[in-house]
Amino acid sequence: MGDIRRILVVGGGVGGLTTAASFARCGVEVVLIERRPAFDIPGVGLGQPANALRVYDALGLLDQILATGFSYDSMWLFDPARRPIVEHKFLMGDERIPAFCALSRLELHEILLGAAERAGAEVRLGVTVSEIDDDGDRVAVRFSNGEQDTFDLLVGFDGIRSTTRLHVAGTAFAPRPSGYGAWRVQAPRPDDVRGMEFLQGVGSKTGAMPLSNNIMYLFHICPEAPGANFAGQDQARLFKERLAQYGSYVAEIAASLTSESDIVYSPIEPLMLPWPWFRKRVVIGGDAAHTFAPHLTQGAAMAAEDGFVLAREVLNDDVPLDDRLMRYSMKRYLRCAFVYTFSGQWLLDEQSVRTPEDLEVARAELTQNASARIGVSDRILDGAF
Ligand SMILES: Cc1cc2nc3c(=O)[nH]c(=O)nc-3n(C[C@H](O)[C@H](O)[C@H](O)COP(=O)(O)OP(=O)(O)OC[C@H]3O[C@@H](n4cnc5c(N)ncnc54)[C@H](O)[C@@H]3O)c2cc1C
Repeated sequence: MGDIRRILVVGGGVGGLTTAASFARCGVEVVLIERRPAFDIPGVGLGQPANALRVYDALGLLDQILATGFSYDSMWLFDPARRPIVEHKFLMGDERIPAFCALSRLELHEILLGAAERAGAEVRLGVTVSEIDDDGDRVAVRFSNGEQDTFDLLVGFDGIRSTTRLHVAGTAFAPRPSGYGAWRVQAPRPDDVRGMEFLQGVGSKTGAMPLSNNIMYLFHICPEAPGANFAGQDQARLFKERLAQYGSYVAEIAASLTSESDIVYSPIEPLMLPWPWFRKRVVIGGDAAHTFAPHLTQGAAMAAEDGFVLAREVLNDDVPLDDRLMRYSMKRYLRCAFVYTFSGQWLLDEQSVRTPEDLEVARAELTQNASARIGVSDRILDGAF
């Protein structure tokens, strides 16, 4: 047994649960704490690209995920009336792993939670960290319920507002408002929505992602004021107004929105923390270290990769722990910085379409280049991590 025998994982999202399962299956004693009292995950659904599916395959979860979700190997770009601009066949995956499988966030969490618990991880809900005392040899933690415990490593996957990041890196790097936000709602899947699709509009973009044979989610990305907070009773009206230029199933879904609709709004607030992602025996990953514009659907995928790679690097104890954590930080930074830059540029490009004339220019540019551009990203992300 190596020098890391007992760890605390803070946060029960995709990243924290993947981390817990990855360490526990190697014989490490894992305690995972989640601040929420229950796993009532907001956020509709997640497209999981081949690189994330490879992590789940290594944890023995591929069949369960594929049986639950909707697999697809192409994406489509349309204009606001859903007239085709480009079909892109993804250059990801192989005969075993599909390019993409999308599923509801709640179902993915349940599958990962099951894996973590079967591997022996102890999951405590409704608990957070009040105090961290790291002397370099052990991390002593006081929890919000007053209990105390010590660990060999504290791993923070506590999301975009991470307090573990504050412990590791202070306030110099923090998520910043991009000036754009994402609206989402679940809807029945029309038969002809067979993969992720984007409808490029004037001043915004919308689209859909199938989550099963029966359901999909509609998303919409547009300029929004930093810090915007939309009251529940206004959301249906505001979402409808934002979708006004779109035709096809988007118009039908917009017409069906009511104050009962389960609409989720999230600001897009990018962050890319330079390495190191650790201080002494406290290390972070997932949205705590990086958040992206959602265009490559890689946020949760990179969180899952982070957790898996962290376990692999830390438990290969050929060098001192500091060196292993630095190896983890540097490897992960390179891949995540690619996603950060690529998806951020995609956001700016699509949102720079401000007039019908811009849309015609974009249509020609996308017809010529979009598939080649996305293909480059596919090849990079399909590579080893
Ligand atoms: C519009 C939109 C669409 C997206 N689509 C996709 C997609 O299709 N595919 C994809 O891969 N990604 C997608 N993402 C990104 C993805 O949602 C995130 O990157 C991912 O959820 C990050 O996982 P995480 O585990 O790092 O953090 P989180 O999912 O945020 O989980 C963090 C957890 O930690 C808990 N927590 C926080 N603080 C504490 C504390 N102090 N103590 C204990 N617990 C704590 C929280 O309650 C939460 O459960 C999308 C994001 C947006 C905004």
